[in-house]
Amino acid sequence: MKFDEIKIYHVAMPLIQPWITSYGSDYEIHSILTNVKSSEYSAWSETCALELPTYSYESASSIFHNISEVFGPLIIGKKFESSEDLNNELSIYKGNPFAKAGLDIAWWNLKSEISNIPLHVLLGGSRDTVSAGADFGIEKDIDTLLEKINISVENGAPRIKLKVKKGWDFDVIDAVKSSFPKSIFHIDCNGGYFLEDLNFFKSIDKYQLAFIEQPLSFDDLLDHSKLAKSISTPLCLDESINSVERARQAIELNACKYINIKPGRVGGLTNAIEINKLAENAGIPVWVGGMLESALGASTCIALATLNNFTYPGDLFPSERFYKDDLCKPENKFDSPYIFKPLNKMPVPDEVLLKKYTIKSEIL
Ligand SMILES: [Mg+2]
Repeated sequence: MKFDEIKIYHVAMPLIQPWITSYGSDYEIHSILTNVKSSEYSAWSETCALELPTYSYESASSIFHNISEVFGPLIIGKKFESSEDLNNELSIYKGNPFAKAGLDIAWWNLKSEISNIPLHVLLGGSRDTVSAGADFGIEKDIDTLLEKINISVENGAPRIKLKVKKGWDFDVIDAVKSSFPKSIFHIDCNGGYFLEDLNFFKSIDKYQLAFIEQPLSFDDLLDHSKLAKSISTPLCLDESINSVERARQAIELNACKYINIKPGRVGGLTNAIEINKLAENAGIPVWVGGMLESALGASTCIALATLNNFTYPGDLFPSERFYKDDLCKPENKFDSPYIFKPLNKMPVPDEVLLKKYTIKSEIL
């Protein structure tokens, strides 16, 4: 299978309301869409590391640059019978997993298109449906947050995730746990804390959260393994797991009891499958995370979450949660509340919206 043509689009998709986390506020989601062609076949991918390097060291601009100027020119016109071959070719370039994911995911979607096999089947998925949780960013006050959580709980959300940051943490957790004592909660710190905050983490052990997601720095494993030994609440790593090797090291260090797998952050679907295997062998459940992608990126995550060891409900949202008019169609919808079905064909960009939201594009 070879890429005869690669088109790269940097798009900015306006959110219905800003998404606020410990690292800042996003008003629009900057994503990189890649369209690859092989003879008469065409497929798309989406990889999304936000506008600025706030979630990881990559940004939409660095991904656009790397695919259009570095990785794309290396692979165009060459044959790659497996996605491992493609990843090996790209491995001379260090890091930049979100950029590499743009090409790896395009390879998988092209394979799906040519073989006429749905992506989730190609990936080895065993599930017909995928469970999603409810997520809450930092709100203007606790009452507003509680009202929003109440709607999700009434609609049957299987678990609730709360974004926390310093100053929006203990009181918030205390309020939601006393208002919704039977619901499953976890918190996501997005790397906003340090080992010196041990007393805070000890103070929330009593709430028996499902886990604490990425409490410490985005690139740390060692301090996470120390924190894990000092508290009873399990840890989940997100930002820190950006390659298969990092996952292996985290498991060896006992730095986590759960892993969040975002296909973009780990370099694509090929690495996501490998990390899932390592985790499963170590008895570590995984779950899929998203980056507020369009329906295309979200559907890729849903396909991945059909694999066996993805047992904790994912960060997966219907299009209407964030977008008035999703760039990719068909829009992402619940099959029933908090349940998605994997698609047989991936969504593709709407031509009018693609033109409207594109900041820059390049053709190889
Ligand atoms: Mg996270």
